[in-house]
Amino acid sequence: MRKKPANLQELFRRALSSQIDLGMGEVVLGGRPALGPRLPEALATAKKKVIPAGEAIEEFSRNRIGDGDDQQMMISLSQEASYGSLEEHCQAICECQRCALGRTRTKFVYGVGNPHADLMFIGEAPGAEEDRLGEPFVGRAGKLLDRILEAIQMSRDQVYIGNILKCRPPGNRDPQPDEMALCLPYLQEQIRLIEPKLLCLLGRVAAQVLLKTTTPLGKLRGRWFDFQGVPAMVTYHPAALLRFQAYKKDCWADMQMLKARHDELT
Ligand code: SF4
Repeated sequence: MRKKPANLQELFRRALSSQIDLGMGEVVLGGRPALGPRLPEALATAKKKVIPAGEAIEEFSRNRIGDGDDQQMMISLSQEASYGSLEEHCQAICECQRCALGRTRTKFVYGVGNPHADLMFIGEAPGAEEDRLGEPFVGRAGKLLDRILEAIQMSRDQVYIGNILKCRPPGNRDPQPDEMALCLPYLQEQIRLIEPKLLCLLGRVAAQVLLKTTTPLGKLRGRWFDFQGVPAMVTYHPAALLRFQAYKKDCWADMQMLKARHDELT
């Protein structure tokens, strides 16, 4: 018998609540096919029923996830989230308590910059200064990011800067997978609203999570990927540049690539 992860049901419940907050109208429930290489075909033919999203939470309470192939539910989102503006979105989620970080944060850190930016920088989570001031990248690493932007003739007002997590993990530890799973829809909605032409993923955590890979940062940096249909380049997090001066040369090369692509597109 498979071992059930301790809080999987709670995690799904919270993720679903988060999606409902973002505007999801319906949820598709169905019998769970056996896992394996034929999963995509099996998913396509599985018995499904569509129910209003509000009822799905109760379904989660009644169904015991992980207790058998026929009982487990699968979810697919049948309606995209839709807020009219970043302000409206921020207002809707700024009191979020979906994960434990909601209880330990000082300030919710939504994002900053031009709401119609062509270029968006994404890090992993707020640090101590960001948590205190409610703005991303304002500590020493943020000041270095400002200097990097200046070096490519750009400014903080031209771009948009955000993180995967909107609340600070205590002691600046790495974000946990469940925290990122719960918070990621917020970032996805920000990208949908901003419609950037390019993304720059700052650091290992942001790159590996958003690109769904375990490839080391050194092999991801300086290359183009795709996230939500937007070209995404990976480079070092400014905090890493503060610790390891040797990364600066590579980061500078990445920034020049980014700037060249930006100028081509705009
Ligand atoms: S980190 Fe994200 S999911 Fe967790 S409480 Fe903050 S906003 Fe909500």
